[in-house]
Amino acid sequence: MKFARLTGYFEELEATSKRLEMFEILARLFNEASAKDIDKIIYLSQGQLLPPFKNIEMGMSEKLLIKALSDASQSPTKKVEEVFRKTGDLGETAEELLKNRGEGLSVGKAYDELTDIAHTGGTGSVEKKISLLSNLLRGTSSNEAKYIARFVLGRLRLGVGDPTVLEALALSKGDRGLRQELERAYNLCSDLGLVAKTLLEKNMEGVRKLRIQVGYPVRMALCERVPSSEEIIEKMGKTAVEAKYDGLRIQIHKDGNNVDMFSRNLERTTHMFPEITAAVKTHITAKKAILEGEALAYNETTGELFPFQITMQRKRKHGISELAKEYPLKFFAFELLYADNEDYTEKSYAERRAKLESLIKKNPVIEPAEMFITDNPKKINEYFDEAIERGLEGVVAKRLDAPYSAGARNFNWIKLKRSYRGELADTIDVCIVGYFRGRGARAKFGVGALLGAVYDEKTDSFKTVSKVGSGFTEDEFSELKKILDGIAIKHKHPRVDSVIEPDVWVEPRYVVTVTADEITRSPLHTAGKDREGIGYALRFPRAVGFIRTDKKPEDANSVKEIIEISNQQKKVKVG
Ligand code: AMP
Repeated sequence: MKFARLTGYFEELEATSKRLEMFEILARLFNEASAKDIDKIIYLSQGQLLPPFKNIEMGMSEKLLIKALSDASQSPTKKVEEVFRKTGDLGETAEELLKNRGEGLSVGKAYDELTDIAHTGGTGSVEKKISLLSNLLRGTSSNEAKYIARFVLGRLRLGVGDPTVLEALALSKGDRGLRQELERAYNLCSDLGLVAKTLLEKNMEGVRKLRIQVGYPVRMALCERVPSSEEIIEKMGKTAVEAKYDGLRIQIHKDGNNVDMFSRNLERTTHMFPEITAAVKTHITAKKAILEGEALAYNETTGELFPFQITMQRKRKHGISELAKEYPLKFFAFELLYADNEDYTEKSYAERRAKLESLIKKNPVIEPAEMFITDNPKKINEYFDEAIERGLEGVVAKRLDAPYSAGARNFNWIKLKRSYRGELADTIDVCIVGYFRGRGARAKFGVGALLGAVYDEKTDSFKTVSKVGSGFTEDEFSELKKILDGIAIKHKHPRVDSVIEPDVWVEPRYVVTVTADEITRSPLHTAGKDREGIGYALRFPRAVGFIRTDKKPEDANSVKEIIEISNQQKKVKVG
């Protein structure tokens, strides 16, 4: 396919804010694509070169792009900056400056050249990157240049989420019912390009045969919630109960001496956990395995667990080995997904757990998560109270006969967390979709409050639930301003549904955690809006911590969960 043809589709996608129209446009695009191009087309439409777990970054700043544009258009940087000031968008700037060029580029060639730019690193790489990009831009039409410019800055923002791609792939085969099977394959490999390529090359038979593989992260299973141990037993009967550790979730992939780790949102995090990597090599007895658990800082002398903030310090690029000495981590393994050619995701919890325990040789770093089996709510309550006392977050109950539900949140796993008087039992993760500049004393930071939204799985969109104006420090407000201005957009994003107009709209990209006193009904918010236009809102929301680097926008709480929590708060006795 010609790259100009693809950017023509981008243009169509940009012009619509209707989900159904997006499905239809993408389905046409997928139908036109060859098996050779389809993966690249999907990655590019989502603003990336490869799935996120490959951790590949363009490493291009506005400044570098301006230089490349100046080179390619043979105009002084001053001129580029002037047009940029006028348009406010380097994509439009490129479009204006690079008029009437050729349209000869193919998708494959554009993709390869962009990949070359991303792979260029080390000394002298800045100049090299600029020259590669200006070469690429020199051969493109103005429309192609517009999207290349936005792409390299990570600002394509076409609103093509993963569920949208799955829906459109099913539609491209003329049967929306295929989505479920496509999603199963996606949940096991986390690579939409691979799923689509398999579909084009080998049809649905090929997709059905896609299996879990070491090196491809499995989309993680998540917990539902209930307000009490009694309801856990009502729902599950006899169940496994595990400690809920408040640390960092890791999915570990072992292939002999190669060990890889992925975070909850499937980014590669191997470099953060050297002591766990070493322990996996020597103390997990399977040659090949995929296991999951929670990593947590602990005090070697007392055996006490440290709070999340300490574990969180591992999220950095440098100084990891010093940190590993100061705050060593323990890894509490709670799931086995694969071991020596056997897919464990389809086996029962009981089988997975037994095998998991058998694979861990005794060692100081890795141990199985605490677990017991019961059908007695009293036993759960006793353990829960003791767990909270020891600094754990609560418990997770796991259905004994259930498979591992890749990519799903359902009642196979149920969490129970501490409930405070006058406070929701659980924190809520919201995705930032805009901000308000703030008045009075706040005005000086440039951000006074955020507009937060929850995720609506049905429509793959974000619905507002709260204005969050407290919980951040002054420094954090200033930092938020910088970060959010980097993703500011002129209009409401097509995936956002809101009646409130913030001062500045932003692309739905960042998640923050908030606590609130309760959930109320409100006409100002669109989450869970009923026929009368009344939605759900958080009362007295306040942020806990800063932007959640471990969560993608779609990992914000869902509209469905907000409604469930609202229903549950009516049932909970406080005090
Ligand atoms: P939440 O983020 O509150 O929805 O809780 C789910 C998270 O709890 C998971 O993503 C894990 O990181 C963490 N977790 C801690 N202990 C366990 C456990 N025993 N089983 C499953 N998840 C756990």
